[in-house]
Amino acid sequence: MASNFGGRVIRHGFTRTVTGPWNYVAGRRCKPSESLGSMKVPEPATGHVLCEVLVSGPLEVDRAVASAREVFPAWSKLSGRERGQKLIAAGRIIRENLEDISKLEVHDTGKPIWEARVDISSCADALEYYGGLAPAIIGQHVPLHGGSFAMVQRQPLGVIAGIGAWNFPMQTCVWKVAPALACGNTFVYKPSQFTPVTAVTLGEILTEAGVPDGVFNVIQGEGETGAKLCGHLDVAKLSFTGSIPTGIKVMEAGAKGIKSVTLELGGKSPLIIFEDADKKNAVKATLMANFLSQGQVCSNGSRVFVHSSVASEFMKQLVNATNKLKIGDPFNEDTTVGATIHEDHAKKILGYIASAKQEGATVLCGGERVIQPGKLASGWYLSPAVLGDCKDHMKVVREEVFGSIASVLVFDSEEEVVRRANDTNFGLAGAVFTKDIQRGHRVANAIEAGTVWINTYNLYPTEVPFGGYKHSGIGRENGLTAVDYFTQTRTVYVEMGDVDCGPLYQE
Ligand code: NDP
Repeated sequence: MASNFGGRVIRHGFTRTVTGPWNYVAGRRCKPSESLGSMKVPEPATGHVLCEVLVSGPLEVDRAVASAREVFPAWSKLSGRERGQKLIAAGRIIRENLEDISKLEVHDTGKPIWEARVDISSCADALEYYGGLAPAIIGQHVPLHGGSFAMVQRQPLGVIAGIGAWNFPMQTCVWKVAPALACGNTFVYKPSQFTPVTAVTLGEILTEAGVPDGVFNVIQGEGETGAKLCGHLDVAKLSFTGSIPTGIKVMEAGAKGIKSVTLELGGKSPLIIFEDADKKNAVKATLMANFLSQGQVCSNGSRVFVHSSVASEFMKQLVNATNKLKIGDPFNEDTTVGATIHEDHAKKILGYIASAKQEGATVLCGGERVIQPGKLASGWYLSPAVLGDCKDHMKVVREEVFGSIASVLVFDSEEEVVRRANDTNFGLAGAVFTKDIQRGHRVANAIEAGTVWINTYNLYPTEVPFGGYKHSGIGRENGLTAVDYFTQTRTVYVEMGDVDCGPLYQE
């Protein structure tokens, strides 16, 4: 069924409402050929059912992978320019429909609309960046002895399986799909059971942009569906974003099939504020490092280390700024804190507040459920929390909370704070705030993490790589680096003279 999408005709029925069916295979929305039951997906803002999604079973995984496999030869043989033009067109469709897609993301995640707009425009950024890069994904010519040479060809891997978390549903998907498709791969994606909506929208957009049917497919389901996809013999690579325990399972599945694996996992990042830091910027960054998307951000700087000489003034300013955040309907323009993804997760976050208090931390503000009026009453809205009197051994300081809790820790020296910042198995991100340029670089270089910001936080331009050290992951997304993770090289040697086999051959 054709429908109108911001003035463009979308062949397969994208509408501005949240409607299924929810799989996207061979270029169309479809029900799974075989279903293992259905999932009622709650809308975080209201707590009511947003949509009901059928769970894909093994036959549907087979169908989606077969669809991606069938079109792989044709897609991979297009020139980089031809593939890139389609990705750039998809980026343009996203920009033209930014408002509608952002609203879908708000329905799905409960995050404030202004944040959803940032996320969705970053999807357009990624499609345009990798679309532009596609013609430049080329090999090498290596001159050898006597005019012989080798060609190092950069080849796509085949069918990629992508699996995503629920906090940045469309962005997570696009960060994998844009480079993978630019490199000539085809894709099957399984979104989180909590956020099934916008991956399917992406399918429609890619189709509208001229990407052939089957190049990008979406199957819905829970962990079981994800596991089947990871174990599928025709999948060449696993690209995963989620928690460490699931990442381990994905890596095990990859090991069984000798598949390349990229893991974007959790974090517990340090945000270090020295005594000479610009206080206002440090407070602004601490808000960005802890309270965007209701604190459900992998790279959050939830261990806020502040120099003892400025700690009490900093905490006063931070609490003051935190109390000004506006909790409420994520569709309102002035809302800065929306709804937590679902009840169980909200209760888990509140459990961290309880354990922090038990271990001696002081709740300086927030950390409570805030019941909203009317239709939002069943949503889980939590007031962002700032904790004082924190110690490194506390559960809330050691574990990833994935919610709006900033734990403030006090330090006295650079050597001490670097040691404490690195005393974790996580290594996703970190930041240092100081006006001393040498100290800024020294500390940034000492932090064991894939991304370190100096005097800012939580920025992810498509042009720069993102990924974790230690248990926070393997591989990188974004930037030129991502191309290495979605290609393999084939070396072709060309002999221009006679075969030289030493004394092996006698006339
Ligand atoms: P989970 O690990 O619970 O789930 C991630 C995805 O894996 C979901 O789609 C899930 O399906 C699926 N899954 C579950 N079991 C399996 C399995 N055996 N095989 C294959 N797939 C499986 O993470 P969350 O969704 O709760 O996301 C939060 C986590 O993600 C946090 O730790 C956060 O830090 C991390 N994250 C990391 C990012 C990064 O870039 N480093 C970015 C964003 C989040 P389902 O849930 O539907 O059952």
